[in-house]
Amino acid sequence: MSNQLPAALIASLEGLPGFNRTSFEAVHAAAEKITSLRLNPLKLATAAQQQTVLQALSPAGAAKVPWNHNGYYLPERPSFTLDPYFHAGAYYVQEASSMFLEHAVRSTVDLSAQLKVLDLCAAPGGKSTLLQSLISVDSMLVANEVIKARAALLADNITRWGAANVVVSNNDPRDFAGLPGYFDLVVIDAPCSGSGLFRRDPELVTEWSPENVTLCSQRQQRILADVLPALKEDGVLIYSTCSFSAEEDEAILDWLAGHFELDNITLDIPEEWNIITTLTDKRKCTGYRFYPDKLKGEGFFIACFRKRSGEAPRKWKEQRMPVLSAKDRDKLLTWLKPSSDYSYLPHQEDILILPPMLAKEITLLQQQLYIRKAGVKAGQPGPKELIPDHQLAVSMVVSDNIPAISLSLKEALLYLKKEDPGITTDVRGWALMRYQDMNLGWAKLLPNRMNNYYPKELRILKDISGIE
Ligand code: SAM
Repeated sequence: MSNQLPAALIASLEGLPGFNRTSFEAVHAAAEKITSLRLNPLKLATAAQQQTVLQALSPAGAAKVPWNHNGYYLPERPSFTLDPYFHAGAYYVQEASSMFLEHAVRSTVDLSAQLKVLDLCAAPGGKSTLLQSLISVDSMLVANEVIKARAALLADNITRWGAANVVVSNNDPRDFAGLPGYFDLVVIDAPCSGSGLFRRDPELVTEWSPENVTLCSQRQQRILADVLPALKEDGVLIYSTCSFSAEEDEAILDWLAGHFELDNITLDIPEEWNIITTLTDKRKCTGYRFYPDKLKGEGFFIACFRKRSGEAPRKWKEQRMPVLSAKDRDKLLTWLKPSSDYSYLPHQEDILILPPMLAKEITLLQQQLYIRKAGVKAGQPGPKELIPDHQLAVSMVVSDNIPAISLSLKEALLYLKKEDPGITTDVRGWALMRYQDMNLGWAKLLPNRMNNYYPKELRILKDISGIE
C-alpha cells in the first residue's frame, strides 16, 4: 500500500483549475475513507421506509449527499455483505462525487418525456441504477458493458434494483453504429487512468503512468467516436471520468467540440458544493472537477453536450413478437401485480415481462446487440405451474398476494448463504423469503424441508457465526 502520489501526476496537475498541491497531498496522506450510498426509490418509496433502512445501517445517523436526492454518507462502513437490505436492492453503495450525474441529468434532460437512455460503460452499475431512478416508468435504459464477466455483474445489480425498464447488453461501442440517431441521452463513464480513486484505493497508484494516461485518452476518443452516431439530434451526451488528468478531461472536451456537432452545456451549480468549473483552452467548453480536498467525495470529472444535428433515426419495420399462449399467460398472471401495460414475451424456455417501450423496441435491439437481460424474467412455464425466476422475486412486478415468510436477520443470512434457515411454517409450495418487507428470493416449502432457490452464484460466502 502506498499513499505516495506519482510526481509526474502532481507535475501535470499544477496550474489546473482548483488544483492546490498542498491540500491535495494532505488529503491523500490522511487517507480518510468515505462511505456513501444511494437509496432505491423504487423499493423505498416512503420517507419512513428510507429512514428504517438508514437507521439500520447507521444508528448514529446519515448525512445527505448535497447533489443527489437519494444519496447519503454513513459515518462508518458497515458490512454490506451481511445486510439483507443490500441483497434486496434497497440501496447501491456508490462513491459520492459520481452521484453528481443526477444533477447533470436533471439540468439537461426533460425527465417527464419518454426517453431512450444508453449507459455505454455501465459495469458494475452505479450510474445505471442512478439513471433508472431518474427516468420515467415508460422510458427505457440500455445498460451496456463490453467485458463479459463485468456484464454479468452488471446484470446482477440491475436485477437487484428491481426495475423492468432496463436492458443489459454486452457490446463493443462500435456495435451501436447500427442504431443511428436512436438515444435521447448517452452517458459515457469512460475507462480511465483512475487517479481520482487514489485516496480510496492506493493500490491503483502502482498502475498509473503518463503513458497510460495517453492510452486512456486515445481509448476515450475511440469510444466516443464509435457511439456518437447513436445519439439523436438534440440528444444529450454526458461524459465523465475518475481521472484528474487534463488529457482525459478538458482535452477530450476540446476534441469533442472540434470534431462533432456538439454544443457544450453549462450547468448551474451551487457554490457551496465546492465543485470546480473548468473552461477549456481551445473551445471554451465547461467541465466540472471534483477534488477530495474540496468536497466530501473522490476525484471525478463530468461535462455535458447537446447534439446540434445528427443522422435521422432509421425507419424500422415493426417486427411481430412471439405470442404467449393463453394457458401460459394464465399460469403467469397469478404471480404478478395487476397491470394492463406489460407485454409477456416467450423467450427460449422463459417468459419475459416487458414494459411498453421495451416491448416495442426489443426486437430491434436484439438485431443490433447481444442482450444479456431484458425486462424481468418471470420464469419457466412448467406443465402445471410457473417455475418462478429469481428476477421476479426481487422485481417490482411480483404480486403482493404470494405467500411470504418474514425472516429474522440470522434466518435471512442463512437463506442468503443458500442454507436452510430452519423456519417453522404451515405454508406449502412456492413462497417469497422476505426481510423487513423486502423480498430476497424464492423457496419451495415442503412438509419436511425447504428447498432454497436463492441463486448459487449470488450466495454469501462470509462467516455469520457471530450474528444472532
Ligand atoms: N459506470 C460504471 C459505474 O458507475 O458503476 C463504472 C464504469 S468504469 C469507469 C468503465 C467501464 O468501461 C468498465 O466497466 C470497463 O470494463 C469498460 N470498458 C473498458 N474498456 C472499454 C472499451 N474499450 N469500450 C467500452 N467500455 C470499456
